[in-house]
Amino acid sequence: GFDLSQFEVGDLIGKGAFGEVYVASHKRKKRVKVALKCMMKSQEDRYLDVDGHSTPVLAEVAMMLRLRNAPRCPNIIRLHDWVELEDNFVLILEYAESCQTLLQYIKDTGDIEENQARRLMRQLIRAVMFCTERGVFHGDIHTANILVTLPRLELKLIDFGCAQPITHKPFNKSDYRGAGHGMPPEALRGRVFHANPAYVWTIGIMLYEIMHGRLAFCNRQSLMFGSIQINPRLSTACVDLISQCLIRNPVQRLQLHQVEEHCWFNPTTPNPV
Ligand code: ADP
Ligand code: MG
Ligand code: MG
Repeated sequence: GFDLSQFEVGDLIGKGAFGEVYVASHKRKKRVKVALKCMMKSQEDRYLDVDGHSTPVLAEVAMMLRLRNAPRCPNIIRLHDWVELEDNFVLILEYAESCQTLLQYIKDTGDIEENQARRLMRQLIRAVMFCTERGVFHGDIHTANILVTLPRLELKLIDFGCAQPITHKPFNKSDYRGAGHGMPPEALRGRVFHANPAYVWTIGIMLYEIMHGRLAFCNRQSLMFGSIQINPRLSTACVDLISQCLIRNPVQRLQLHQVEEHCWFNPTTPNPV
């Protein structure tokens, strides 16, 4: 196990819906740090085991445990351990040092170059593919749940608080428990939806937001029916990737494996000598 008494709680580094995140340093080895996500205990529906059954284990923990065994994905924050206190759960997480949320990074950076965006998107896709391999649907991918380390631009996916196990059954709208920015139209419409096309939609939403500094759709109406305004100064490949990920019909949408094979990720040398 993990001996929390060896750690000294430091600054508050984040605040979310259910609690607070603190950094903590090892009392003797000061450079060893962890993030402590402290959450008030609440509703029953947050308890779920790795097979989707209801148990006294927090669903967030159960889903992160699926991602923890080797070979691991460097783009997903590791769960070291967790402790249950009387009215709190504490997740002991890998601490992402010198990082920002993607939200902040986009605000601070302004116009992000396609090379930088490509670097981030490759890592996001790696994280998403890894989740599907381990049967985890994140269900709440948005720019505050993605950390970016500076200056190296390493990406870490966090916050599995809305994650669901992927089974042979499709999801219902109520299975999408995230903030809504990444919710695909098929879920919003109240139809069943599948993890992979939903992930591809979210990838499109994230790429759009990185390249434009704003959400692709500002409300449900525009998500369902609006046309997508893509900056014409983006490369043809980038415009194509965004549009193909944001096809409303999930059957026509790009498939997950096609996303990483898309030509935007494989730029050929324009003028070979
Ligand atoms: P919530 O489920 O309440 O949204 P999150 O897990 O998203 O909580 O964490 C809230 C914020 O805390 C994040 O947006 C991020 O700024 C910060 N944070 C969370 N986990 C870490 C971590 N492992 N390392 C560094 N910062 C983190
Ligand atoms: Mg969050
Ligand atoms: Mg959460």
